[in-house]
Amino acid sequence: MTTGEVIWGTEGWPGPDFSQNAKGAVENSQLRRNLRKATATIRERRAGLVAETPDWQQLRAAGAAIKDRTLHNLDAYLEQFERNATEQGAHVHWARDATEANRVIADLIAETGQTEVIKVKSMATQEIGLVEALRQSGITAHETDLAELIIQLSSDRPSHIVVPALHRNRAEIQRIFREHMPDAPKDLTDDPNALAEAARLHLRRLFLTTKTAISGANFAIADTGGLLVAESEGNGRMCLTLPETLISVVGIEKLIPRFTDLEVFLQLLPRSATGERMNPYNSVWTGVTPNDGPQSVHIVLIDNGRTNALKDEIGRQALRCIRCAACLNVCPVYERTGGHAYGATYPGPIGAILTPMLVGVEHAPELPFASSLCGACYEVCPVEIDIPTVLVKLRHDAVKAKKHPAQDATFQAAAQAMSGRRRWTAALKTTRLIRFIRHAAPPPLSRWTRVRDLPDPPAEPFRDWWRKR
Ligand code: SF4
Repeated sequence: MTTGEVIWGTEGWPGPDFSQNAKGAVENSQLRRNLRKATATIRERRAGLVAETPDWQQLRAAGAAIKDRTLHNLDAYLEQFERNATEQGAHVHWARDATEANRVIADLIAETGQTEVIKVKSMATQEIGLVEALRQSGITAHETDLAELIIQLSSDRPSHIVVPALHRNRAEIQRIFREHMPDAPKDLTDDPNALAEAARLHLRRLFLTTKTAISGANFAIADTGGLLVAESEGNGRMCLTLPETLISVVGIEKLIPRFTDLEVFLQLLPRSATGERMNPYNSVWTGVTPNDGPQSVHIVLIDNGRTNALKDEIGRQALRCIRCAACLNVCPVYERTGGHAYGATYPGPIGAILTPMLVGVEHAPELPFASSLCGACYEVCPVEIDIPTVLVKLRHDAVKAKKHPAQDATFQAAAQAMSGRRRWTAALKTTRLIRFIRHAAPPPLSRWTRVRDLPDPPAEPFRDWWRKR
């Protein structure tokens, strides 16, 4: 099953039309069933763990404050991180955009002489379209996260930040493994244990033979120069320790000032992301340790639109995001459309604000409207990102960026009518016109009335009623 109607943009960029993509998705009942089941399960687990954490609100406030402090002094923290990572033997590279980052990484791999690499799941590499860029340079990147492996084998796209194959059920995964994984057992069933075992055996060969790995990072720690990857399957630990060369792609907003700040984030992240008290694997590495783990360690720090987002006084709070996906799991829009409808790397409420800020709202003008503004995303966000407020601000920017002559003229006329008692009284007499608009408005007005209720005005306006008495 795929959400076949989806129109994608180029890597990291949104497709042209959320509403068109969403239409195909909501008509896919299997997709909706998969989404409903998966998001409800994670939602319940998260809610249970939050309920047993008495200082949850204080932890959220602390997470937001640490991230804000980092963002306000990002230049200084980045330099501190570079200094400390370099002192520990890592090589730090800077990339302004996806093209620059992909070129740096392809060159680093070429220097090793390898043509195959293994990969830890990473949104940053997805954002810059790394796998496709490496393919064009003759390098094959193997995903090692189970869900990413399913996505890669089926030439699909991730639909969730934490659970990329959330839109697939186990019968579909069985079919994908049988058709696309050459070493899958012929009698493979859809039993979850059997599927996991098939993937484990398939990946083990790659872990033991591949000499270069690529990762992202959940956090980059300024006062030590270290990076942290949190994961559940152990594939990350394999990639981070077994190869000779490790290249980590890290967005500049991943910085936290101190190692001790992890105390806050390692409580917030697993509870919000997977509904666990702690991640099964938290791997921290700081440069090179002689004769232990990769001996060539590179860190590629990417901007790719982040400094533009930082300029936006209201929107910059999106850079606090720790990619837990809690906002996706509670979003009524995401639950019905799935992640593909957003046509870009970051789906759901965070995608609806982050993507327009990374690529420019004029390139993603529909995404800030992909929300009911119910506020559920804000309530669960572990770093208190006020997504509804940012959405409203971006809607304003999107309207300003794109001229809507008919809409502008309608609101100007409404403003005129409401600005004087006589004019308003005259306007109220046009009830027949309002009824006509409601039931048979011609384009472009019909686009508005098709999806919004325009109540019938009362047969007798209040002023007339009052005057009679
Ligand atoms: S916006 Fe908040 S809830 Fe959504 S992914 Fe980011 S940190 Fe998690």
